[in-house]
Amino acid sequence: MNNCDKGAFFQPWKPGWLTRDKRRFVRRQAASLVVWPVVSLALGVLLWVVLFSMLDADRQRMEDDALRQATLLSATYAQQIGRNVAQLDQLTSVLKSVWENAESMRTLEEIQKKTGFIDNTILGISVADTDGIVTSTTIPGALGRSVSDRDDFRFHQSHPTPSLRIGPPLKSLLPETEIVVLSRRLDHPRGGFAGVIWASIDAAFLADFTNKSSLGATGVLALVGQDGVLRAAKLGGTVESALRPKVIQPDFLRAGPWIQGVSHASWFADGIRRYLASEQVPGYPLVAVVGLGAEDVFRPLQEIEANYRRIGAAGTAVFILFAIAATVMSLRLAWRKHCEETIRSTYRIATEGAKEGFFMWSPIYGKGDSIVDYEMVDCNERGASFYGLTRKDLIGSRLRQLYSGPLLQELLGVVTNVVEHGFHEEEYKTRSDTKLDATWINRRFVRAGENIAVTIRDIGERKQLEQEKSVLAEQDTLTALPNRHWLSRYLPLALERAGREGRFLATLFVDLDKFKIVNDSWGHSTGDQLLQAVAHRMQTVLRPDDRIARFGGDEFIVLLENIEREANAAEVAQRIVDALAQPFHIHRQEFLIGTSIGISLYPRDGQEAETLIRNADIAMYNAKADIGMRYHFFSDALFARLQRRWETERELARATENDEFIVHYQPRVSLRNGTLAGLEALVRWQHPVRGIVYPGDFIPAAESTGLILRLGEIVMDKVGAQLAQWRAEGMPLVPVSVNISGKQFNDGSVTGLVERCLQQYGLPASTIEVELTESTMATNAQQVAHELAALRAMGVSVHLDDFGTGYSSLAMLHSLDVDVLKVDRAFTSRLGRAEEGEVLFRAIISMAKALEMKVIAEGVESDGQLRILQQLGCEEVQGYLMSAPLPASEVRAFQVPVFGQAEAARASACDH
Ligand code: C2E
Ligand code: MG
Ligand code: MG
Repeated sequence: MNNCDKGAFFQPWKPGWLTRDKRRFVRRQAASLVVWPVVSLALGVLLWVVLFSMLDADRQRMEDDALRQATLLSATYAQQIGRNVAQLDQLTSVLKSVWENAESMRTLEEIQKKTGFIDNTILGISVADTDGIVTSTTIPGALGRSVSDRDDFRFHQSHPTPSLRIGPPLKSLLPETEIVVLSRRLDHPRGGFAGVIWASIDAAFLADFTNKSSLGATGVLALVGQDGVLRAAKLGGTVESALRPKVIQPDFLRAGPWIQGVSHASWFADGIRRYLASEQVPGYPLVAVVGLGAEDVFRPLQEIEANYRRIGAAGTAVFILFAIAATVMSLRLAWRKHCEETIRSTYRIATEGAKEGFFMWSPIYGKGDSIVDYEMVDCNERGASFYGLTRKDLIGSRLRQLYSGPLLQELLGVVTNVVEHGFHEEEYKTRSDTKLDATWINRRFVRAGENIAVTIRDIGERKQLEQEKSVLAEQDTLTALPNRHWLSRYLPLALERAGREGRFLATLFVDLDKFKIVNDSWGHSTGDQLLQAVAHRMQTVLRPDDRIARFGGDEFIVLLENIEREANAAEVAQRIVDALAQPFHIHRQEFLIGTSIGISLYPRDGQEAETLIRNADIAMYNAKADIGMRYHFFSDALFARLQRRWETERELARATENDEFIVHYQPRVSLRNGTLAGLEALVRWQHPVRGIVYPGDFIPAAESTGLILRLGEIVMDKVGAQLAQWRAEGMPLVPVSVNISGKQFNDGSVTGLVERCLQQYGLPASTIEVELTESTMATNAQQVAHELAALRAMGVSVHLDDFGTGYSSLAMLHSLDVDVLKVDRAFTSRLGRAEEGEVLFRAIISMAKALEMKVIAEGVESDGQLRILQQLGCEEVQGYLMSAPLPASEVRAFQVPVFGQAEAARASACDH
């Protein structure tokens, strides 16, 4: 089995799903399988690159913002310092002029007390004289100290400039405090150095920025003199020593006060990168420097970066999933294609070189996923040749190009069916508008995945043979008429048609009356020619629409599909009867046969072909029995009668086994002396329910079933046994005649039967006589003659029963090999009524006498008849006048003469 038959590629729930075929397939597909992972990887990398570059841009923007912010802050800081220093500048300037002009104000303490000029920003104001001794001060304990060695004192001593000097940071006397000294030279009113006045301010005050919060946790604030000396600094809220800074490194100061940009690694000991900007303090040789710590600057970036990473991770995950899904899908798709290709090539290989055309159609989808057409995606050369094309030309064509109109609709219908059920096979005769180069096509459709595989075979030759065969099979070779095979196919269709159109259909069962006789006596060749002539003559009287078939033997079925009422069927039947009543001439011989026709009508007499034929057959039997009417319609009464007959046939079998038969004996009386001349054995059926049943009611059934042979044996045996019994009882024996059926003669068993009986019961041949009818003698004449000769040779006398009713005529009497003529009751009954009855009887008697035959008159019922018969010289009589058939036990009474002696004498007289 092909792997593709096992379904989809991925079936991990089934053990062994990853077959060797699949593994090999995956290896072959390796190159195309990496496409999606590679694409996904590239997309992932691109995503990360974009995210990082965005992050970079953000960082750059933040850096720019930080620098801008630092610039802004440094400007603010410079302004703040400018303002503060300007205040001190002003204060010292005022104090200087006060000092230089006001004689009354001796000490700063007094001035302070009077003016309250010192605020908390100033640690103290001091004045030193020309020798550098502090002469006045607000700082307790500082009075009288010498500052002569201090830079600022020495500077003012040697520089007569009146402007404020901002000195470098100094260690204060107070512990842990660094100060910055703002000093001014004091001059005598007359000129000349008079000392120095200075304000000491806490360096930390200079590093105290009003806008603290904007500096963040790691921001730096520094006030640097244009001399490159740090005056004050603060780092992240901690005041830095200006004299011995811990964090700020000398490199920072060496870089100069005009700093703009990112800090150097060596500038700060805490290793924090800072974004720095500086601004000149307006009016003073000081530069305000502000730096923002990278940590603070980039704090928002962390969140942004985390966000970007999340996006990146999510994107990567999506791409990985996409890669997996796309790979799986492409693998499945490729597998399906592989399967389709496998199926296709399998089909092609299987059909290549064969007589079959192979096509693979693939659906074309329209809107809403509905299939609008099919495309020929593959075929073999044989297949293409059906369309008169090459494989290359046919591949790619669509159904709608190849077919149109009803052909297309039909095909699309079939295809829809195949899509639903998976398989379809059909045989059809191609239409004239087809493109296929074939007359008969066998077409198989198999659903193969989404596609449909079609194989086409040209079955034209086979169909032709079949057709020829079926024509032969459905045609009667003798008459060239359709036969019963044709009928069994045609009649159901005709009935269906009639049912649909609400019309009548008459079935005529035509049976030739005397065909058997002709066939038996003139040979089969004559019989065949007669049948041909009959078939031909019937056709001439039928209408073009009527159909005729030979049903078998001498039976024909005529179907009348085009009738409106019963009378129409009767007309046709009468035409056939009339036509066949005319003599036929074969080999210069004239034949008169005649026919019996039974008619059944659809729907009245049946719905099914078989029922209609059977009922027509039943009606035909009725017509046969009817001397006047040659055709009969079926009726329920007929059917009932027939049913009774079937029943009888069934029961007869049982009766032969159960010994339900008895034999009655009818005396034959001699007209010569009125004594019992013989007995006729007549069988009766002692039916357990119906009582005594007479031969007329069961002999035909026994004959038709063949049971008559067995019945014949039973009767013969009973007669033999009865004779033996009578003999044993000492009764004088008279001959008993036994009726023998034509069937028994046909069987060739009569002589043997009689012989066995005589032997078994030790009877002389003269005790048993045989009765047969004229019709028995007519059919199978040779066989019968042979048996009769044998019987007569044995000494068994032969009686021709019912003489006058059958086929023989007086003229034929001489050729009949019999001992006794039993003249039929029909003649006896005419005696005394009409002159010709007597004439006929007289002729028979004189003829018989000439031929040395005895004459027995049957059915003598009146004295008149008896008298006439006596006058005519008839030897024996039989009839109710003398006695009806009697049970064996009652026969004894006939041992005495029936007629008086006188009458007997008269009879014998009249004999002569
Ligand atoms: P068949 O051989 O012609 O027998 C004479 C028939 O006429 C008998 O009818 C008899 O009862 C009847 N018959 C006798 N006298 C008169 C009369 O005066 N008037 C009338 N109307 N009828 C009379 P049955 O017994 O009903 O037999 C009918 C036929 O059945 C016989 O005709 C014979 O052909 C046949 N048959 C009877 N027994 C046997 C038998 O054992 N074997 C065969 N193969 N056929 C038998
Ligand atoms: Mg008889
Ligand atoms: Mg008779």
